[in-house]
Amino acid sequence: MEQAWLASLVKRFAKEPGLSVPIGDDAAVLEAGPGEDREWVVTTDMLMDGVDFRLAEIDAARAGRKALAVNLSDLAAMGARPVAAFISLALPRPAARDLADRLYSGLVPLAKQFGVSIAGGDTNVWDNPLAISITAIGTVRRGKAWRRSGGKLSDWILATGAFGGSILAKHLDFTPRVREAVYLAEHYDIHAAIDVSDGLSLDIARLAEASGVGGLIFPKMIPISRFAKELALQDPSKGSALDHALGDGEDFELILCTHEEEARRIIADKNLDVPITAIGGLSETPGLWQMTDKSRKTRVIPKGYEH
Ligand SMILES: [Mg+2]
Repeated sequence: MEQAWLASLVKRFAKEPGLSVPIGDDAAVLEAGPGEDREWVVTTDMLMDGVDFRLAEIDAARAGRKALAVNLSDLAAMGARPVAAFISLALPRPAARDLADRLYSGLVPLAKQFGVSIAGGDTNVWDNPLAISITAIGTVRRGKAWRRSGGKLSDWILATGAFGGSILAKHLDFTPRVREAVYLAEHYDIHAAIDVSDGLSLDIARLAEASGVGGLIFPKMIPISRFAKELALQDPSKGSALDHALGDGEDFELILCTHEEEARRIIADKNLDVPITAIGGLSETPGLWQMTDKSRKTRVIPKGYEH
């Protein structure tokens, strides 16, 4: 749906009771009861044939896996430890049963990998394309969920992994950064986070805006995936490898903001398997900017998938 309508929902439900993080972030956080030291984190995502994947072109197992993975990525963006998932399917006739089996054969191994219990859902059959709706539930330490709005002036912007060209494979086969999120939440003070679903530049701009600051990125420091380079070689008219990294989306990496000292410790941490890189910082000037050479700042128009 269009951004303006979604923004109106965020406004309308901003003060619902019982929520410590309302609608509008990567996931919602439900208030903990008295004496409880953890809060529930809940997110939901619906994937549709023809929009998020093309069932005619891929093994349905990969679609099932992706449907769970995008939800786990949103939990990771809150610093949450996943607990359970609910799987709802609208299956096209006639081979609904076989399709359901394939979907589950893709998502169950991912659930096992991250200790997620399949806790329920709904399975319906109809004469329309496949839709998969998954709700994932996790927990965070009370009051410690990573929000988009927690960024502070002079924070560094860190990113896991590399960006761009996800259409060549990664948008289906990515590993949600669950382990990294759980580890970082336990050991470090992260001020703000978001996962990159729509586009690196767009999602950084969203985090900066939610935090009431601007974003400044250093293009030379952005880790560019080999797939972005491949796309740029295939068709230079569609942009450089950096353009792909900034705007392709569906990378499902994490953007994290914290103060310099903490950021340096994270980058040097040997316990992390996935590289974490500093790609910029939060600054006073609203909007998204890039440092083109040593002292020149130019405006960046955030790019990515607009719903
Ligand atoms: Mg997200």
